[in-house]
Amino acid sequence: MSFQVVAISVGLVSVAVGIGIPVFYESQIDSAAKRDNTQPCFPCNGTGAQKCRFCTGSGTVTVELGGGEKEVSNCINCEGVGSFTCTTCQGSGIQPRYLDRREFKDDD
Ligand SMILES: [Zn+2]
Ligand SMILES: [Zn+2]
Repeated sequence: MSFQVVAISVGLVSVAVGIGIPVFYESQIDSAAKRDNTQPCFPCNGTGAQKCRFCTGSGTVTVELGGGEKEVSNCINCEGVGSFTCTTCQGSGIQPRYLDRREFKDDD
């Protein structure tokens, strides 16, 4: 349980750093970043958007009500949009240098 909390906290910190990263830090890593900074963002495959995994991008979910009845409703996870702005690249589609060793191996 505590491991899960730690993992979530790390994720939130990473997002906060990604949003709030100062310009001077960008310039400090510039020489290193030049080599790879056109690399497509890994989580979103360079699209700048991440498909909602809850509804697999359809924006709707089908709920089995039993008795052969099904109810189709808007996905509550993405509010029917089907995708999100990628939190890794903030929608740019470019892999941020400081995240290129992030682990996404469970992201099927
Ligand atoms: Zn969804
Ligand atoms: Zn991305």
